[in-house]
Order: sequence, then structure tokens, then C-alpha cells
Amino acid sequence: METKQFKAESKRLLEMMIHSIYTHKEIFLRELISNASDAIDKLYFKSLTDDKVGLSKDDFAIWISADKDSRTLKITDNGIGMTAEELENNLGTIANSGSLKFKSENKLDEDSQIIGQFGVGFYSAFMVAKKVTVISRAYGADKAYQWESEGVDGYTITEAEKQSAGTEVILELLDDGEEEKYSDFLDQYRLKGLVKKYSDYIRFPIKMEVTHSRPKEQTEEEKAEKKAPEYEDYIEVETLNSMVPLWKKNKSELKEEDYKHFYVEKFYDYNEPLKYAHVKNEGNANYNALLYIPSKAPFDYYSKEYEKGLQLYSNGVLIMDKCADLLPDYFSFVKGLVDSEDLSLNISREMLQHDRQLKVIAKSIEKTISNELKKMLKNEREKYEEFWGAFGLQLKYGIYADFGMNKEKLQDLLLFTSSKEKKLVTLDEYVTGMREEQKFIYYATGESVARIEQLPQTELVKDNGFEILYLTDNIDEFALKALMKYKDKEFKSVSADDLGLETPEKKEELKAKEEESADMLKELGEALSGKVSKVVLSQRLKSHPVCLTSEGEISLEMEKVLNAMPTDQKVHAQKVLELNPEHEIFGKLQAISASGDKDKLGKYARLLYSQALLIEGMSIEDPVEFSNLICELM
Ligand code: ADP
Repeated sequence: METKQFKAESKRLLEMMIHSIYTHKEIFLRELISNASDAIDKLYFKSLTDDKVGLSKDDFAIWISADKDSRTLKITDNGIGMTAEELENNLGTIANSGSLKFKSENKLDEDSQIIGQFGVGFYSAFMVAKKVTVISRAYGADKAYQWESEGVDGYTITEAEKQSAGTEVILELLDDGEEEKYSDFLDQYRLKGLVKKYSDYIRFPIKMEVTHSRPKEQTEEEKAEKKAPEYEDYIEVETLNSMVPLWKKNKSELKEEDYKHFYVEKFYDYNEPLKYAHVKNEGNANYNALLYIPSKAPFDYYSKEYEKGLQLYSNGVLIMDKCADLLPDYFSFVKGLVDSEDLSLNISREMLQHDRQLKVIAKSIEKTISNELKKMLKNEREKYEEFWGAFGLQLKYGIYADFGMNKEKLQDLLLFTSSKEKKLVTLDEYVTGMREEQKFIYYATGESVARIEQLPQTELVKDNGFEILYLTDNIDEFALKALMKYKDKEFKSVSADDLGLETPEKKEELKAKEEESADMLKELGEALSGKVSKVVLSQRLKSHPVCLTSEGEISLEMEKVLNAMPTDQKVHAQKVLELNPEHEIFGKLQAISASGDKDKLGKYARLLYSQALLIEGMSIEDPVEFSNLICELM
């Protein structure tokens, strides 16, 4: 009997299989079942037009059987089968599908990562088996053949016995190692679990003889004695797969409960989803999708550990558990799956990334999610606010990320707390409610709404009857800076130098006052040199004596946020100390300045500066000095 050699690239693939890491190996079953299903598809198709086939739809099945004594696992189908030449051509060389082109510089373990995620077909059997035997009889042929191989050394093909068309793949499992328990693959629960996980929706039944246990019938005597029952085993043939995927069913057949139940089971979330969408798309991209918005952010959502992605199926067969390319980062909270017949089963991750069809699908899915969110915002405001609480932060990151590339798509999904009723408003609602004379969209930043409420800088804007957006998340101001404008209205911080509120007369008045107090302001500035870039008179203050603002690109809030990040480079906002010329403290300062007591003026300056820092929610530089100064001046 002649031993034949594998083609070079097949040999290489085999080697990779053998060295792949254990956790990836379980996919071999999916691959073999998928092949069996394809083979049945072919014969089933024939049976529709050819009576000689003699089988009807219900006769087709895939069988799994495990034998612990011989450590063998058998996958049988009554599909189209293979001739001797087909065994030679199909199993002696890597599938011609060209689905896997290996770069020669690829390292072995990188490749084995790929294997874990994607099917590479029949050879995956060698991830778990030391010997693979395929007995096959092609439909219409009068002889059966056996293909046998123990891996890289080659294979043999001999004549065999088989009564009807179909294929039997027999795996003699590898010996158990310390960490690798191949015998697990003989366990009926494990096998059931794998079929459920990967092949639930194969459209032909996957059957297995399953051993159950039941209490033995008791005699009247035993019953009277209340004897504990003895158990006996019995065998039952079970169909392991449900065959019709939920997402392929008609929407009219399905109830809300079905969708929710499916979500909870499939995505291991205790909480029901906030929203779901069942998409059946035809045209430029053919796919079915189930999309879910969770009601709560997973505990690791805002961490590096979180992996976004949708399950990807090719015609009912799972090819990837988390296909990241299907979701943009700003929608990374979406869970669900996509099933498309436009994708090949044997596609590697690298190929997938460049797959044109996948990109078309991803685009279409993004649009669906965006529309669903907009619909929810419009029609189910309360629900949307719940969503916003869980994932709003991610959308705001989305505005800021990628140089603001996606801001147009996301801006109408944003919500901020408004000063008016302390409730969430959209930018559109804000702009619609703007007064005619209002030029800007005002915002104020701080760690909480209560904190911002107390900021002296908000006084003037509020006095004018204008609404202010209260920004409480670190990312907020960055997001608005990325947006720059909304409906042609610029965003303006209440701390900005020109709020667009001052009348020309008022400006003149202030300028005159500033000139009058020029010496004092200079002295104050000198006393605070290195801390603030200047001291000015303010128009925005009503009841407070001082506040801190900034000039230039970096605001006080941004300084706080950026400096909280784990980098060595600290940024500094150019701080400006603003004095309220209407406040009685101002008169005091003028008096001290006039008396020539520079030392005392300096102390006042440092005290007022510390006070302004505290109001801003920043820490004061020297708390001991601050407290000493208070005592001294009291
Ligand atoms: P692929 O399924 O991507 O073509 P495989 O390596 O899994 O790659 O299989 C190679 C070929 O072997 C298949 O295309 C099919 O023609 C044939 N084949 C594999 N398993 C079976 C089977 N159970 N019955 C009939 N043909 C099979």
C-alpha cells in the first residue's frame, strides 16, 4: 500500500494544526459538521429533481458518536460522499478555495491564533486526533474508499465497505496531556455543548445517542419500605441542534419575549436588553442581524479589557465570536449577531478585514443602530435617558475621537443637563429654546451639577435669562471643542473672556475703571506672579468678589482633566483672576493699595486667589498659609 505525500502547503497547514493552542481546538467539530452539512446540502438538492436518490428531507442527518474505550469520535453524514479521486484531491491538498494564503514570514503561534478564530476545514481534525480515517461512498458510485492519515507523514487510500452514500470521519483522539484533556471530546455533555455553541443552526439534525439515567421501577414492597430508588441507564437519540436560527424566522412569528430570552441566554446578561432590532437586509448586502442595546454597561465596559464585536455567521455557521470590524467604537456597546450568505466560511481574520462585503454590512449596521437610537430619543425619551446614563460617555468619546471625524453623525444623540430645569436636553432643544439676542451656546464645567450651580462665572449668563449646559464628565469639554459649533452656533464657556453679553457702554465703563485701578491691578498681579497671568476687573460677577478664568486654549477644567492622566507632562491653563468691582472687598483693596502697604495687599491677593481656586474645585497650593492668613486678617 502506497503512502502518498501531502502537497507542501497542506503539510505546513497540518503542522500548524498540530501545534495550535488547546483552547482553540474545539472548533474542529464545527468544521467537520459544517462539511457534513454541505455534503448533505448537495445530495438533498439532487433529491429534489432525482427520484433515484430515494431520500426525503427528513431522512438526512448528521450523527455524532463517541467511544471511550477506543478513544474515537465519529461524525457521519448521508450526504453526497466522495469518490477515490475526490478523496485524493479534496483531502490530499489544502482546499482550493484559496481562503488561507499564508505569508511565509508568519510565525507559527500567530497562525494558530488565526486557526482558533476561523475554520480551516477538514485539517482541523488533526488538532485533536492522532489518526483520521475517512470512509466515503460517493452518490451513484458502486464502491467505497477509505482515506487514512496520521498527520504530516502522508496518507493512504484503500477500498472499503460502505452500504450507502455518505461519509464517516473517524478521529482517534490524541493522548491526554497534563493540561490537554482530549478525552473531553468524548464526553456527551461537552459534545452537546459544542454543537449548541457552534452548530446550533445547521439546518439538518445533528443526532447523538445520549445516555440518561432514571429511577428503576420499584416493587410494592420496596415502595412501602420507602426504599431509595435504584437508577438505571437508558439510551435515547437526541437532536442536539435547534436547526432554525431565531434571526431567520419571520418577525411575525416572534414575540418580544423570544428576542429577550435569546439575548439573556446568548450574551450572558442578567438584565433584559433595553432595545433590540431584527434586521433583514437584502440588496447590496444580504444579511440577517439581531442587534441589542444592553440596559446596563458591562462592568468592564469602560476598560481596556472590554472587547467589542458582533457574532458573525456564514449561513448559520458561526465563524467568529466577536467580529470587531462590524461595529464602530462609538457603538461598541451593541451586542448581537450578523448572518450573511455573502461571506465564505473559511475566511481568515486578515482576509475578513479587507473583505468588501463585510465593510458594506458594517456600514449598513451602523446606520441601523444610529436610526434606532434616534427613534428611541424621539419616541421613548425615558428609555433613551436610561441608555444615555449607561453609554452616553461612549458617544461623547466618539465625538472627540478620530479628530472629530464622526461628529456630524453623533451630535444629535448627545444630551447635557441644562441650567433651566436641571434636566437633560439635546443640542437641538437648546438651540430651539435660544432667545433671539443670544449668540452662543453657553456651557459651564464642574464635577457635579450642584457644584456648577454655585460657580460665580454663571451669574451673568443666568441673569440674562440664558440657558447653560452643565458639563460634568471629563470628556465633555473636549467633545464640545471638537464639535466647535452646532447649527452655526458657537459653544462658549461661561468663563470665556468675551461672553457676547456686555453692552458697548458697559465695556467702556469697565475699561475706565480698569485704568483708574491700573496700579493696584499691577501690584496684585505681581503678588501672584507665577500663579496667574493677570488680574482684571470682571463684569460677569454679581455677588461673588472673585473668580478664576483662563485665557488661551486650555481651560481650567481641561487642566484638571489632563493632569489627572498618567503622563509626566503637566499642562497649565493661563489663569486670570477676575475681581468684582461692585463688591465691597474691592473698595478694601483700593484702600490698602492707596495706603502703600504692599505686604498687606499681597496677603489679600493670595487669599482671594486661594478662595477662587476652592470655588473652582481645584486644590489650593498652600493650605497652611491660607489658614494662617485667614486668622491673621480676621
Ligand atoms: P472546504 O470545506 O472549505 O472546501 P475542507 O478542507 O473542509 O475545505 O474540505 C475540503 C473538501 O473536501 C470539501 O470542499 C468537500 O468537497 C470535501 N469534503 C469534506 N468533508 C466532506 C464530507 N463529509 N462529505 C463530502 N465531501 C467532503
